[in-house]
Amino acid sequence: MEKAGEILDASRVPYEKSFPLARLTTLGVGGPADFLLRPAAVPPLAQALEGLIGEGIPVAFLGAGSNLVVSDAGFRGVVVCFSDLVGEPHVEEHRVRAPAGLRLPSLVTRLTRFALSGLEWAEGVPGSVGGSVRMNAGAFGDSMQSSVREVTLLDRLGRVERLKVEATDFIYRGAPFVGERAVVEAVFQMTPRASKEIEETLVAYRDHRKRTQPQGVRSSGCIWKNPPGSNAGRLIQEAGLKGSTRGAARISEVHGNFIVNLGGASFADVMGLADLIREKVLKDFGVTLEKEVVVWA
Ligand SMILES: Cc1cc2nc3c(=O)[nH]c(=O)nc-3n(C[C@H](O)[C@H](O)[C@H](O)COP(=O)(O)OP(=O)(O)OC[C@H]3O[C@@H](n4cnc5c(N)ncnc54)[C@H](O)[C@@H]3O)c2cc1C
Repeated sequence: MEKAGEILDASRVPYEKSFPLARLTTLGVGGPADFLLRPAAVPPLAQALEGLIGEGIPVAFLGAGSNLVVSDAGFRGVVVCFSDLVGEPHVEEHRVRAPAGLRLPSLVTRLTRFALSGLEWAEGVPGSVGGSVRMNAGAFGDSMQSSVREVTLLDRLGRVERLKVEATDFIYRGAPFVGERAVVEAVFQMTPRASKEIEETLVAYRDHRKRTQPQGVRSSGCIWKNPPGSNAGRLIQEAGLKGSTRGAARISEVHGNFIVNLGGASFADVMGLADLIREKVLKDFGVTLEKEVVVWA
């Protein structure tokens, strides 16, 4: 890993050594990354990536860490966190260009001010623009795919590509066109709507989340994808698993598909509960669940 330090010094991207990833995930679980980078611009990151990949050093990308479960061993290599790749979204008529690190709630606040509609569903999703494109985040019957129309991607050799995308390029909770690349920017196609009406929708969505999701606790959102035509949270509830506890992790009493960290939960605590869910739902309903969260182990 000495070589990684030399490459990073040469590229002048700010970095820290042995950084605890628990601090960068909403679940609050995860050991150290050997190196953590927080680039504020793309060119120095591109230079760093080219060097790192040339040396065969593993690199992983991190947004807001809100759909991520990281092992207690952490990550051997370089984690690139996009939290500092932020700035005001650029609005041109009804198209909005936003940097990867901007959080969806901040983006929605700005769009409300600009009277632009299409991302109201995303206000309560604590992800970044980049991570949410990659995950095709969605709620209330809508998702990123209905408004993302262009992405800027950075590959692991440091090359930048602008790509036009359609709704059909996405899949449920995924964006295969991203591949191993980083999303550094996205362009959204919005529609005009009165700010007051947008605000009314946001209030309704906020109320719904307050009623149906755990509040004021650490989690990584939904652990499992909804199986076709079904709902993972409901299956977990019907399997009688709400409230099950392993160490300091618990299956939320409010929403069965959320595992919450009661304080100091380990990776094994969280994954133990995830395994319990998978096995019981398969046994009780014959349904094989697929993970929605991304696991770094
Ligand atoms: C309380 C709560 C509520 C939630 N509600 C919802 C919801 O309603 N709907 C929903 O879909 N999700 C929900 N989530 C999950 C999560 O917020 C979304 O999946 C979000 O889109 C993840 O974005 P992120 O930036 O946090 O990604 P991360 O968790 O940081 O990363 C997720 C994946 O994306 C990759 N990635 C991150 N940034 C980039 C980038 N710039 N380029 C390429 N790859 C990248 C990572 O390597 C990883 O594979 C919720 C989570 C919480 C904690």
